[in-house]
Amino acid sequence: MTITTEAPIPQGYLTKDRLELQSLARDFAMKEVLPIANELDPVGGLIPDELREKMAEVGFFGILIPEEYGGLGLGAFEYCMIAEELSRAWMSVGSLMARGNGLVGGFTGVQMKELLPRVASGEYLGAFALSESTAGSDVANISCRAVRDGDDWVVNGSKMWCTFADQADYLILFARTAPPPDPEHRHLGINVFLIDKERGTFPDGISGTPLRKIGYRGWKTWELAFDSFRLPASALIGEEGRGFYAAMTKLETARAHTAARSIGLARGALEDAISYALSREQFGHPISDFQALRFKIADMATRVETSRQMMYHVCTQIDTGRRCDLEASMIKYAASEMSEWVTSEGLQIHGGAGYTSEYAAERYWRDARLTRIFEGTSEIQLKLISDRLLGKPSRGD
Ligand SMILES: Cc1cc2nc3c(=O)[nH]c(=O)nc-3n(C[C@H](O)[C@H](O)[C@H](O)COP(=O)(O)OP(=O)(O)OC[C@H]3O[C@@H](n4cnc5c(N)ncnc54)[C@H](O)[C@@H]3O)c2cc1C
Repeated sequence: MTITTEAPIPQGYLTKDRLELQSLARDFAMKEVLPIANELDPVGGLIPDELREKMAEVGFFGILIPEEYGGLGLGAFEYCMIAEELSRAWMSVGSLMARGNGLVGGFTGVQMKELLPRVASGEYLGAFALSESTAGSDVANISCRAVRDGDDWVVNGSKMWCTFADQADYLILFARTAPPPDPEHRHLGINVFLIDKERGTFPDGISGTPLRKIGYRGWKTWELAFDSFRLPASALIGEEGRGFYAAMTKLETARAHTAARSIGLARGALEDAISYALSREQFGHPISDFQALRFKIADMATRVETSRQMMYHVCTQIDTGRRCDLEASMIKYAASEMSEWVTSEGLQIHGGAGYTSEYAAERYWRDARLTRIFEGTSEIQLKLISDRLLGKPSRGD
């Protein structure tokens, strides 16, 4: 039995159009994604190309892309609403949609005209090569170098954690083109490059090693090595020297999207826990009769809804052009912490069965664990929030 929590009725920002879109995404997630996730995650299988094509057909890669470039021209609200639905079925698929929508902040006019229609159609999906072994939370510490040689750039160095690098059609590479002028301005001299590549391989000069991870299956996450890799001058994205700022734009949407993924996972855990509690009997009763579990489920549902409402608020702020970096950090933090707790309780309600891969409860939990780490760890969100409230500390970072 698959339980889905009640669909809301139109009111306030949950307009009829948005609810129809949510219903379409929910239907897609439960029919097209969930069965595949349950089959492939336990055996480490990859998201099939056919699923990617179906996502492209319904426009999931172009939600945020303006209609003039072939996208749906919708906002962060719709984007996150759909991300919640897809992640309820499989977080990796909720993340895959960002390989279209989310990566194109710094494109120039010509790049937008040429590439956005291809991104929107799902034909041209990217991977994000920002993190390095010594530049994780501290992104300004990037040491991968791009040096000008005539009309080319020559790249040397390495990148960590580049998810989807093999299957992507392009990589967004952050590399240092000049040493930092001083320790206070380490973010200067970082540039962003677009590496056009063939899907399924790495070009000459780039080699990859897949990392072994505990969840976020369905695609591979890579360590990449660049060995005198050559790029044309036209590969530079945006204004030279302002790459760090390109990385920081759209952060609010990215954080809301991670909140959406966290909420989707928690909802999966909640719905599966309700279903299991109603059907499993102990001591001659369904375990849903025991108040300890009834209250647990009530608590899980309350926390999911609390995060969802705050996510809706942050999305509304983004879509109406209001500054909300503080609230975006808060919801990224709150939703990911909530998600780990709710998915762990969901597993607990399954008892020993929850500790097997026969049920999705353990997958939700493994994937929720990651939401506290990527897109800025929980500690980094707390640092950002406390810096806004208290001002930056006089010592330490
Ligand atoms: C499965 C997976 C997929 C990923 N995919 C991508 C991708 O596609 N592209 C990409 O570029 N990156 C990706 N990442 C990288 C991810 O963004 C980083 O792991 C994350 O930013 C944390 O960096 P780190 O792992 O180096 O941890 P570190 O920065 O070394 O942090 C270690 C610990 O120290 C804490 N810490 C660090 N600085 C502070 C501080 N100032 N104050 C308080 N605490 C602090 C952290 O919160 C953490 O608890 C991925 C990571 C994972 C695990």
